[in-house]
Amino acid sequence: MRLILLGPPGAGKGTQAVGIVKAFGIPHISTGDIFRKNLKEGTELGTRAKSFMDKGLLVPDQLVVEIVEDRLKEKDCEKGFLLDGFPRTLNQAKELDDVLAKMNVAMDNVVNIEVDKSILVGRAVGRRICRGCGATYHVEFNPPAKEEVCDLCGG
Ligand SMILES: [Zn+2]
Repeated sequence: MRLILLGPPGAGKGTQAVGIVKAFGIPHISTGDIFRKNLKEGTELGTRAKSFMDKGLLVPDQLVVEIVEDRLKEKDCEKGFLLDGFPRTLNQAKELDDVLAKMNVAMDNVVNIEVDKSILVGRAVGRRICRGCGATYHVEFNPPAKEEVCDLCGG
């Protein structure tokens, strides 16, 4: 199963992704995660991406697509994958089409999560991210056990 998960920040993509990858036994591919991995491991792609980020520039679509392509060629993607947060632009979507054609595979489904704007605003406003470990919370829907203290790292 090859899926793309779309939706605005706060739509609950991350939450849905957990259930989807479990149900289909496919890897969850988030561009944020693979960027961080490439940067951390200092790969050639990561080094190129960093040169843009260091200048405060957006990483060009072409390079974002290359990084995703690199990930999709790994063995665990043979049975399928869930793309989360990618493609983000029409241009990236067109580039993804070319990549998939080259790999001789096609997407099975695209899921677009629609959420009422007022709900999204409420979710965004209450969102908290731990500075120490990156864990995410929400003051109303997913608070830590102790207010303002991270459950995972105590930060
Ligand atoms: Zn933490």
